[in-house]
Amino acid sequence: TKSNTEGFPHNLIELLDGFKASKTLFIASKLGVFDILNGESLTVKEIANRINASVLGTEKLLDAAVSIGLLQKLKCLDDEPVYRNTEQARQFLVSFSPQSLHSYVLHCNDMIWPLFTHLEDAVREGTNQREKAFGKKSENVFQDVYCKNHDVMMRFMNAMHSIAKITGRDVATAFDLSRFRTACDVGGCTGAMAYEFTKAHPNLSVTVFDLPAVVEMKSHFQPIEQDRRVSFVAGDFFKDDLPKADLYILARILHDWSDEKVHELLSNLSATCTLGCGLLLAEILLDEEKTRPSRAQLQALSMTEGKQRSATEYSNLMKKHGFSPVHTQYTNNLLDVMLFVKDNQA
Ligand code: SAM
Repeated sequence: TKSNTEGFPHNLIELLDGFKASKTLFIASKLGVFDILNGESLTVKEIANRINASVLGTEKLLDAAVSIGLLQKLKCLDDEPVYRNTEQARQFLVSFSPQSLHSYVLHCNDMIWPLFTHLEDAVREGTNQREKAFGKKSENVFQDVYCKNHDVMMRFMNAMHSIAKITGRDVATAFDLSRFRTACDVGGCTGAMAYEFTKAHPNLSVTVFDLPAVVEMKSHFQPIEQDRRVSFVAGDFFKDDLPKADLYILARILHDWSDEKVHELLSNLSATCTLGCGLLLAEILLDEEKTRPSRAQLQALSMTEGKQRSATEYSNLMKKHGFSPVHTQYTNNLLDVMLFVKDNQA
């Protein structure tokens, strides 16, 4: 018989368990479960042995991962059951797969999770909780945290790289960019996004502009087949001259900064732009009521000094610097895209 569950708060029960599911994904990734199951089906004991963990704990972790669709469990007659990756785990969770999100998963576990354990204080105080979470006060997370420690920087760059690799193609192909010959990816990090742009646009060259400590590490992230149309310049986008280009790309940059800092950056950028220059913005765009998508609103709770904005809010910021919106594309991907053109000397 079917029980009557009308009115039962399924969504609330799912939310109550949400953090357990996230942590299952984080820890299975951190312990290397998806890597050792790459192309193999193994028993609990074999997996526990390889990840150097207890059999009991490993079994619970694996069964939890099966229950949320990350692994499959197969049982043949009297044999011990074996576990294997789902197709999605093979594609996105194995650390060495081309589209791997492994580094971003670790970033969520190591950098974002500790901030969210202090959410109550963050809300009461209206500030990010980096000092409580990591023992260090920091005004500017890029300069004060990432650039100060090689391992932390590598982890951050790996995380950015993995997201840029899976979103870059849709960002690069959102609009017809054939009239542009040179682009500057402002805050372009490892160059992953720049490579997607040169792949999609055979006549485009892209200069990646980022902090010196980031540019120094670029060799760790270059694809085997390097493209001479991608180059790197080090500097600070608030103060230094930006490389000359026909098109400027701002991907996942502005949401990190207050309106005041965004104006600083845009006035620097606007100063190097001639009329007709393009500006391509890639961000999660809030709807005009600013209630969705929840992905943007949940990200905002980490309380960086920045904020999530709607297309109208981004357009208003841009207009003050002489850029008018030309196209907006809401993708089904992690990033929406807007194209602006510089049409007056603000
Ligand atoms: N655009 C890349 C992407 O979409 O994958 C990376 C986005 S990441 C959230 C922000 C980037 O801005 C980092 O690479 C960081 O180093 C860079 N950045 C932060 N402050 C900067 C500054 N003052 N000057 C230049 N780059 C900066």
